[in-house]
Amino acid sequence: MDFKEVIIKLEKKNPGEKEFLQAAREVLESIQDIYNQNPQFDALSLIDRLLEPERIIIFKVPWQDDSGKINVNRGYHVEYNAALGPYKGGLRFHPNVNLSILKFLAFEQTFKNALTGLPIGGGEGGADFEPKGKSNHEVLRFCQSFMDELYRHIGPETDIPGCDMGVGSREIGYLFGHYRRLVNRFEGVFTGKGTNWGGSWIRKEATGYGLAYIVRKFFEDHNDSIKGKKVLISGAGNVALYAAEKIFHLGGRVITLSDTNGCIFDQNGIDISFVKEIKEMNRGRIKEYLNNYPKTKYSENPGDVWKFRGDIALPCATENELNLEAVQHLLKNGCQIIAEGANMPATPEATEYLLQQKAGFIPAKAANAGGVAVSGLEMIQNSMKMIWSREDIDARLHRIMVNIHDTCVKYGKEKDGYVNYVKGANVAAFLKVAQAMIDQGIM
Ligand code: NDP
Repeated sequence: MDFKEVIIKLEKKNPGEKEFLQAAREVLESIQDIYNQNPQFDALSLIDRLLEPERIIIFKVPWQDDSGKINVNRGYHVEYNAALGPYKGGLRFHPNVNLSILKFLAFEQTFKNALTGLPIGGGEGGADFEPKGKSNHEVLRFCQSFMDELYRHIGPETDIPGCDMGVGSREIGYLFGHYRRLVNRFEGVFTGKGTNWGGSWIRKEATGYGLAYIVRKFFEDHNDSIKGKKVLISGAGNVALYAAEKIFHLGGRVITLSDTNGCIFDQNGIDISFVKEIKEMNRGRIKEYLNNYPKTKYSENPGDVWKFRGDIALPCATENELNLEAVQHLLKNGCQIIAEGANMPATPEATEYLLQQKAGFIPAKAANAGGVAVSGLEMIQNSMKMIWSREDIDARLHRIMVNIHDTCVKYGKEKDGYVNYVKGANVAAFLKVAQAMIDQGIM
């Protein structure tokens, strides 16, 4: 089967959906050989079935702001593939949210979730709502209106949303509270809940910690370690902050962080606790770091993060933030590994270049799977009505990330010893989802 034709058909069917098409092209490129080596896949039209989400819901979200004005946002929910378990993915509240972005995230999530080894399918939802700058009351009213529709489509055995950009513990609390009121049941329908009302330990930290664990395994396989390494991180949100925290615990030195306004650089290592205070407690700007550390370099261009010399680069902000020029710069400066904390932060040109150069590169669906892995563990704890300890969850998260790493090596090692983690992750995840789809008949 020639995947060029598949891509042309996909482009015609999903015009203008650039993020979804970008994600699909990357997976198709990786799996073409394995697909064609197994004629049963094509005989069962598996590729056409995988490229179509199982269900998409689009709805109106009217809400009143503090001045009394009525605003209308658009809500979405993409239930991509439930062959391995109930739909599981994040909710994203961000002004640029559209169907293409959510389809890309849900598609990626399907493969990422397969890599965790847990029984979870893939989905993603959200709205073109900007929580930044809104009062708590406005966010509450928005979440309640959003849930007035979403509650019909989710449930602990069907679809379990969680955190993504713009949706953290505050939003999950408001969404869950309203869901509980609407259905009159306390059940494990969300992940990322407070630890005193059904949430799991380490969920908040999981994506960032998992990212650090997979990078640690990469170095162990090269008889090296994170200790003493200089680390460039973009973003200053949930993923970036906890990646930074764990890197620090493992002896690395985080020298950059950023937000949408700019980036900070401190050769001696950034004080992560102070950034947490600025971003998590006060919802402030990264520039405020200079209030306590006036000698820190600040640039109003967030992309300058990649201009510094670092041994490890962890893009943890958003999609397509790492372009060809940036990765060329990183490799020239001796960067040993780039691991994606955000979803699809490297542009296709950047990814292609990294693979051509046989650079150390771990794609998002492997590198940032720690978040959904602990969400999966939260779901298991909820269904068992049990709470596992912090140490237990951390050890499980660590094991899952090591397994994901080794699975990528198994399916991605080339004849010359180079590990193509992109191929490894895509092939391993595809085989798992494909087999489940075949076993379950035509769907
Ligand atoms: P948050 O909303 O918590 O944080 C995002 C951070 O990135 C903010 O500091 C934001 O700045 C910054 N940012 C956004 N765009 C840019 C940009 N162009 N340049 C520089 N900084 C930018 O999101 P998360 O940390 O949760 O998510 C980040 C990424 O990780 C997303 O791609 C998400 O899909 C992915 N991800 C998240 C998971 C999770 O568990 N949360 C799980 C797996 C993947 P500002 O403060 O100015 O908005």
